[in-house]
Amino acid sequence: MNLILFGPPAAGKGTQAKRLVEQRGMVQLSTGDMLRAAIASGSELGQRVKAVLDRGDLVTDGIVIDLIEERLPEAEAAGGAIFDGFPRTVPQAEALDRMLARRGQKIDAVLRLKVDEPALIERITKRFADQGRADDNPEVFVTRLAAYNAQTAPLLPYYETQGKLTELDGMASVETVAASIDAALSIVA
Ligand code: AMP
Repeated sequence: MNLILFGPPAAGKGTQAKRLVEQRGMVQLSTGDMLRAAIASGSELGQRVKAVLDRGDLVTDGIVIDLIEERLPEAEAAGGAIFDGFPRTVPQAEALDRMLARRGQKIDAVLRLKVDEPALIERITKRFADQGRADDNPEVFVTRLAAYNAQTAPLLPYYETQGKLTELDGMASVETVAASIDAALSIVA
């Protein structure tokens, strides 16, 4: 099974993805994690994208599409992927559908974690204080949220039209969100 955890930054996608990895043995494919790893390693890609992440803008579609494509065989071998932070634009979603179709696969479910903006800002302020991730600083976060609203939210009708979208209350506790994800997946599986 391949699923997308969908939502704005700080909606809880990473937390829920890690739980699904532990419980179901699926592979988490987080383009944000991959890009941060590239930056930390000092690779040519890392050097190219660092300024973009620091500003809170999106990197170009081709970069993240290539990163995902490289990891699809591993996810397939594990029984499925949890896409976290990808796709973030309509062209990325279309490319993902094509890449999966070439492998005889598809997206089975898109789970949207709905969290309102005041709650996101409260979470990010706390995460910035706890972890000090540079792009969680409040000014950069405004840009990340704007990128979500302008470029990523338009994906919702894309998946709704395909009948794959389930909306979940991401404001609830981690445990309650986990239970609602399990309930949604039990219908798909
Ligand atoms: P995240 O950890 O998912 O919030 O991603 C951190 C940053 O990495 C984002 O603010 C973007 O700069 C970049 N990024 C991650 N995933 C994507 C994507 N699918 N498309 C474009 N940029 C991305």
